Amino acid sequence: MIDFDKVVADTRTLISIESTNPGVLEAQCADWVEQRLRGMGLEPHRHPVEDGRDNVSVIIPGKDRTAPRLVFVSHLDTVPIGVGWTRDPLGGVIEDGLLYGRGACDMKSGLALTLGLLEALTTNGTVPPADVVAFYTVDEEAPRMLGAHQLVTDGLLRPDDQILAPEPSGMRLRIAQMGLRWVTLAVTGRQSHAGRAHLGVNAAHIMSHIIVELESVFAGLPFDDEILGKPRFTCGTIHGGVATNVVPAHCEAELDLRIVPPLVPEDAVRIVEQVAARVVTGYPGSSFEVSTLGAARPPVRASDDSKIVRSLRDSYLRLTGALPEIGGADGHEAYTDSAMIAALTGSTSSTVLGPGATDEAHTADEFVPLADIELGCRLLWDMIERW
Ligand SMILES: [Zn+2]
Repeated sequence: MIDFDKVVADTRTLISIESTNPGVLEAQCADWVEQRLRGMGLEPHRHPVEDGRDNVSVIIPGKDRTAPRLVFVSHLDTVPIGVGWTRDPLGGVIEDGLLYGRGACDMKSGLALTLGLLEALTTNGTVPPADVVAFYTVDEEAPRMLGAHQLVTDGLLRPDDQILAPEPSGMRLRIAQMGLRWVTLAVTGRQSHAGRAHLGVNAAHIMSHIIVELESVFAGLPFDDEILGKPRFTCGTIHGGVATNVVPAHCEAELDLRIVPPLVPEDAVRIVEQVAARVVTGYPGSSFEVSTLGAARPPVRASDDSKIVRSLRDSYLRLTGALPEIGGADGHEAYTDSAMIAALTGSTSSTVLGPGATDEAHTADEFVPLADIELGCRLLWDMIERW
């Protein structure tokens, strides 16, 4: 059995170690995890990603070393603490069955669950049916997701790995992930006196036109995935102009493009380029430029009969009497290391299920229900017993 009290204690310790990104980053957290694993008698490895930033990995060999491995991917970093907290963000306070702190659900409790599982195995001297692997990654909460990329570059994953990221999903099973592309759109016009606006080319007006057009083009895309729903478009930032009485020559916007199959990130970029090209032809003397931001994140989907999906469903059903919910409002919009690995390797056995809800992640007073951690303990142990 996994020791629930120990998992809660580890979660609180992990919360007390700030690992904000951007911010102090996750090196101290990686050190603590490494030491914790060594304390179990395990031999963790470090895999450099950037200066002072290492992924950590550990393997407990199974009876059948060639069987599909059970692989956990947990990230060490959190988003910045931000404002609006009414509790100590690094305090790990427990009130009414909820544990509060930055990373409480995203995802120090999930990370602690994997430590609990590894400790349960080593304490009992249990040899699992197949290798159990845990990866602890850096930089998940950043546009480039360097840790997940490095795991793949380092060749640490096998094609038949059965991957679970215990990220906050409200204990729902996430088998599909919406794709995402961020782009920067820059429009250039010509500056002039606002009283003589006809002599200029207004970059702000052109940008507004493009954004309105993109909104309607995205809304009209004929794709509606059974789990992920429809594509979504958001203009997240927009900057332009120098003064109220000057026709602006420059305007720049950052666009968030959420995509579902069969769209891929390149399609989203192409749509922006086509719409921008069409609009600027109506404004002689203007031009535009599209550049991408962060890593391409295509939509991914695990197979219903992959071993990890079957195993999670069976264990959840056995423990709760119901199948885990799939899809719905909670979660598949938040790209994770699990999705990035699937995108980079083509894995169809990459999933997310973990304590706490995506709606609480990244917020002030982030929390995780202790009941979710408790179910997580039982679920992982049931899975490993029947793997
Ligand atoms: Zn996360």
